[in-house]
Amino acid sequence: MKYLHACFLRKRNMIIVRSFTILLLLSCIAFKLACCFSSGISSLKALPLVGHLEFEHVHPASKDFGNRYQLLALAVLHPKSVSDIASVIRHIWMMGPHSQLTVAARGRGHSLQGQAQTRHGIVIHMESLQPQKLQVHGVGGGPTPFVDVSGGELWINILHETLKYGLAPKSWTDYLHLTVGGTLSNAGISGQAFRHGPQISNVHQLEVVTGKGEILNCSERQNSDLFHGVLGGLGQFGIITRARIALEPAPTMVKWMRMLYLDFAAFARDQERLISSDDDKFDYIEGFVIINRTGLLDSWRLSFTPEDPVEASQFKSDGRNLYCLEVAKYFKLDEDGKDVMNQEVKESLSELSYISSTLFSSEVTYQEFLDRVHVSEMKLRSKGQWEVPHPWLNLLVPRSRVNEFAKGVFGNILTDTSNGPVIVYPVNKSKWDNRSSAVTPEEEEIFYLVAILTSAVPGSTGKDGVDQIVKRNQRILEFSEAAGLGLKQYLPHYTTRHEWRSHFGPKWDDFVRRKSRYDPFAMLAPGQRIFEK
Ligand code: FAD
Repeated sequence: MKYLHACFLRKRNMIIVRSFTILLLLSCIAFKLACCFSSGISSLKALPLVGHLEFEHVHPASKDFGNRYQLLALAVLHPKSVSDIASVIRHIWMMGPHSQLTVAARGRGHSLQGQAQTRHGIVIHMESLQPQKLQVHGVGGGPTPFVDVSGGELWINILHETLKYGLAPKSWTDYLHLTVGGTLSNAGISGQAFRHGPQISNVHQLEVVTGKGEILNCSERQNSDLFHGVLGGLGQFGIITRARIALEPAPTMVKWMRMLYLDFAAFARDQERLISSDDDKFDYIEGFVIINRTGLLDSWRLSFTPEDPVEASQFKSDGRNLYCLEVAKYFKLDEDGKDVMNQEVKESLSELSYISSTLFSSEVTYQEFLDRVHVSEMKLRSKGQWEVPHPWLNLLVPRSRVNEFAKGVFGNILTDTSNGPVIVYPVNKSKWDNRSSAVTPEEEEIFYLVAILTSAVPGSTGKDGVDQIVKRNQRILEFSEAAGLGLKQYLPHYTTRHEWRSHFGPKWDDFVRRKSRYDPFAMLAPGQRIFEK
């Protein structure tokens, strides 16, 4: 008995000594990390910069358009030069892999799930990187005009500047108050992509600061691995500080048309016919789904004119789903140009199978057309409905499965879309460069962008509340997965390594290789949650 008691005491003492040693070790590590951290902060503060690091006013960098994720940054860098960005990154790189500091470039913060945020890291406010004036080259009929812009430049500013020379970029997003670095890190898709490809297919050259703080120029010919990696690379391989963007002669005016279909298959068939046509029938092709809306045509009358007002006023949707084809034809503002355009449009429309009484059109300047979403933004802002949660879902659906998707999703899961548009249009995969990091559905020549852009009502627990919309999005993903539709997320959001691997599919190995080459400590864009420092 005495022996057992002694054994028990010895064991207990050993456990106490071991626990004490572990505790001591852990506090040493914590102390060391804290020392590193605070010495890291003070050395960061001592960096000679043209711009500055802001440690107090960091809250605006800790939220985004999605309005659902918030990570509080340690500091915000307002760079005035590329070397400011390189110095900060190089400094953190020199601190080694054990420093907790990460770096997130932030364009306009129009991400949806914290992709441009970092917890206790440095956010780079890219719009502070004011370049010298935007430089437009090839003015006056040069063979390949282009513009050199800062990675933090807004597309709307590029439009304004290039229009002064009668030029404009070829490929856009629907909304232009986004930054060059932000859209090039994803793809940049809109109604021109069927012809020109996404924005990432219209870039000649980039300047990039890697995760080691090197400043590198890259293009098809120079550092091409980095160039292709960064395009659609979700900010993982470097910070885009400059981009050379292809331009084309700009039109002055746009004829903008909308027409309705009751049958999704007919709507999609016409969209595909138009994007596959060689003879430039339209310059912009999109479409959207109208579910459970009454009085829609009346609201269009504010900005569109019905081709046949009497017929249009008699059209009733009777609560059925409608599919709206939206197309645009560019033209120059001279009478001849307009007549030719009108004749061409008439011929092109005659081949389509929309409901004839539902053709609406409008003529606007090119600038008004491209900046159209900003008008909606101003309206929503004035009603306090812009800065609300945006549980958006963007999908790329292979053409061969799009009818099945439409039946399951528009027919059964989305039964009310009053709080935001559902955009649907096809693009040609041949216009995408498969060497870029952007992910598209495998193998098929045509795939559809389906953007379900629902706004939530803050605080609501009903169907318009954020939780219900997130659940509905999840149902759409589960339905697509169960049906094996082979779709990909655009502006992807995943939480596990397994999901990321399957998202990238055959591109995963290259993605991981590039990460270890250009950002070996996984310091950049941690908000994407692909790699962990
Ligand atoms: P941020 O949200 O700030 O950043 C996005 C990601 O890129 C982050 O991971 C960030 O770290 C990284 N990043 C930012 N800048 C750089 C840089 N310079 N270098 C490297 N990485 C960087 N997209 C389309 O394709 N087509 C559309 O039609 C379209 N319409 C939209 C309409 C609205 C109203 C909104 C809010 C978004 C729309 N988007 C569209 C999505 C848009 O492309 C993304 O939100 C994109 O992230 C651009 O936003 P941003 O410039 O604010 O980038």
